[in-house]
Amino acid sequence: MAHFLVFSLVKYRKTIVCDILRYNTSMDKIIKSISANGHFRAFALDATETVFEAQSLHDSMASSTIALGRTLIAAQILGALEKGDAKITVKVIGDGPMGPILAVSDASGTVKGYVKNPDLDYRRTSTGEILIGEFIGNGQLIVIKDMGLRTPYTGQVDLISAEIGEDLAWYFLQSEQTPSSVGIHVSIKEGSDQVADASAFLLQALPEASEAEILAMEKQIKNMPALASLSVDEILPALYGNIDYKVLEESEIRYKCDCSRERFAEGLKSLGSAELTSMIEEDGGAEVVCQFCNTKYEFSEKDLNDLILNQSEF
Ligand SMILES: [Zn+2]
Repeated sequence: MAHFLVFSLVKYRKTIVCDILRYNTSMDKIIKSISANGHFRAFALDATETVFEAQSLHDSMASSTIALGRTLIAAQILGALEKGDAKITVKVIGDGPMGPILAVSDASGTVKGYVKNPDLDYRRTSTGEILIGEFIGNGQLIVIKDMGLRTPYTGQVDLISAEIGEDLAWYFLQSEQTPSSVGIHVSIKEGSDQVADASAFLLQALPEASEAEILAMEKQIKNMPALASLSVDEILPALYGNIDYKVLEESEIRYKCDCSRERFAEGLKSLGSAELTSMIEEDGGAEVVCQFCNTKYEFSEKDLNDLILNQSEF
């Protein structure tokens, strides 16, 4: 099957800085759809609050926010293709100063993530577009799907541009043999680090789609307005054009960390008595920081001793 969809994306992931008011201060959502003939599937996402929350938690600067935001959205798109208790991990591992970016999502629309270097500021092209690819560098996009089976599925592709949208489309083609077009847009308020808005789409040709239909669809999306200019409710009509489709589901998506003191206590316990004893001797306790939400958990000398005692029961 043709794979040109992958290469026709540049226009659709425009990330322009615009000082617009965030028109949606409520919840984020994803709209899932299928063409009337069942040959194409498309998702539209408003992820403004998701990326806004990520930026606030990580206190990240423009380019780092855009890189993390796009990776979080990529994970939300992958999560939306799953069902049940599946967990998706997306890793963007490049050799540039951004360092690794990681996002974890599930089928219910929840995502969390972090970027190793949250302090990379703007680098714009002459047209005002913020590029993140050169900060990420050469490397891989890795997708891990944990369906609760013994071995999780892992797919990996080399980064094409490291702008994330194209890389995800390339992953779908290479690892899942599904011709796809992905647009991911994150913009930052001019003169600040706050997120203005974030949106995305996924368009996939299903196995029934003919070569001619894919060509017609490619032509259709080439004439689509830039993602940045569309509200979430305008994305699907713009993607499908004259093709009939039906909305299958509209549901909430969000940034949420599921860490807890109990979970970190379990993690400390698993280090073993010797390690915990040396933490007591050297530091008089332990402070653990969640890398997804920056919540700090303090464990006193007594807490650590309790963990050691607790451990010896087993
Ligand atoms: Zn957390």
